[in-house]
Amino acid sequence: MKPLVAIVGRPNVGKSTLFNRLARRRIALVEDIPGVTRDRHYWDVEYEGRDITIIDTGGFVPGEKDSLLQQVREQAQLAVEECDAIIFVTDARVGLTSADQDVAHYLRQSGKPVVVAANKLDSESGTLQALAGEFFKMGLGEVFPISAEHGLGVGSMMETVMGKLPPLSPEELEAREQAAKAEEAAEAGEGGEEGAEEAPAEEEERPIRVAIIGRPNVGKSTLVNALLKEKRVVASEVPGTTRDPIDSELTYKDHKVILTDTAGIRRKKTIAHRVEKFSVVAALKSMERSDVAVLLMDATEPAVDQDAKLAGIAEEKGRALVIVVNKWDLISTDKRKQELFREDLKHALKFVHYAPIVFTSALTGSKVEKVLELAVELAVQFRYRAPTPQLNRLLEHMADNHPAPIVGRGPLRLYYMAQVGTAPPTFAITCNRPDGVPDMYKRYITNQLRGTFDLRVPIRLLFRDRP
Ligand code: GDP
Ligand code: GDP
Repeated sequence: MKPLVAIVGRPNVGKSTLFNRLARRRIALVEDIPGVTRDRHYWDVEYEGRDITIIDTGGFVPGEKDSLLQQVREQAQLAVEECDAIIFVTDARVGLTSADQDVAHYLRQSGKPVVVAANKLDSESGTLQALAGEFFKMGLGEVFPISAEHGLGVGSMMETVMGKLPPLSPEELEAREQAAKAEEAAEAGEGGEEGAEEAPAEEEERPIRVAIIGRPNVGKSTLVNALLKEKRVVASEVPGTTRDPIDSELTYKDHKVILTDTAGIRRKKTIAHRVEKFSVVAALKSMERSDVAVLLMDATEPAVDQDAKLAGIAEEKGRALVIVVNKWDLISTDKRKQELFREDLKHALKFVHYAPIVFTSALTGSKVEKVLELAVELAVQFRYRAPTPQLNRLLEHMADNHPAPIVGRGPLRLYYMAQVGTAPPTFAITCNRPDGVPDMYKRYITNQLRGTFDLRVPIRLLFRDRP
């Protein structure tokens, strides 16, 4: 699970400037998804060899109606509840304000790791740097003089931030090793077959992690409760690694399933008014630790921007996705109506066209078990490994049926394909022009892979030069 680092502070102190600077290290996205990529307030970036997610809380809590103090408090709350470390940005040219003091008080009590950035110190001059001193009074420890605009001091501040993050778990270290091995095997090209082919045995037995996500009031907690009741299990509370997430565990057709972050769903009753603003970050976080995202929407209020955004995040994060249209009992029992609804939804969510759609009523229990069935099915596809000979037969078949496009001065030639990763299934194709493969042809290959192996999950393609 990638640690989340939040940027907090008053308006105009330079949060988005800092955010944009840090975002320069972002991990390349496979495909930009309109509506998700535009106007982004979080990015996955790499720092010191570790992947982290940075969040500009100012973007998540725009607070047009709220007072300034209220806005900054809400940002701090979001950071404290969801994030692993906080960068508290202040404006050293303005100096310490009472809003800063107020937030500092709250952050101190939270016990979360905080670094203070005294921003807008645009030169190394001693008199300017001395302006940072004032912020020690907040009692949050070390203060880093920075210039977000010019990049001064940002490196050493980030070094400290990275040092405050929770250490990598044994599973993460293991996963890294596995990834490095798969990469090596793939690099070895055609000889890498054996290395890439061998699925680690425990991968099959790892519990399936399912995140139930969706806007407030779509029926997430009702669904979770219905699922748990259906399975006649009392939710066993599995203590998580971070502060108080409590997961529910159940068994479905011999698969161990963990519904992640249901604690957040239960907990929300007490913080109802904040959930609306925070649901994207909470969803982001619970998707980070899951194989499958179950995205609930309300049939009476379908496919609003936020639903599309969550679906886009699932695709971008490479998570399997089940789309659930809940509260269908309020709409109709008419099959045709369902088909029309499905068509509209498929159109609105084209970028996740592979995701199955199910119409439920969490209230009456209708089709609730189907959600679990699909989640388990997708999790198996998510971890599937395609046999290399079959992949290469597919490659030949594609070359015969769909002439490769001309790229630059000659035709694109695909030589060899191997699966180099799972969760999501990732395929490497060796070819003559790795940078020139047209998007249309990429989609064609992806669809062929979907059809051949029945993969209704995100698929990643890598194109490589011949070694
Ligand atoms: P936010 O509201 O906290 O996200 O602040 P912005 O990032 O939008 O910055 C507010 C203003 O401060 C903009 O005009 C920035 O150009 C300016 N600013 C940000 N960082 C620096 C800096 O390091 N030095 C100076 N001089 N100005 C900065
Ligand atoms: P959450 O905020 O997403 O966890 O939503 P809740 O599970 O708290 O549900 C919000 C409201 O919608 C509650 O009043 C539920 O009783 C109601 N609700 C949930 N699922 C259904 C459903 O399938 N049909 C109907 N009619 N109401 C539902």
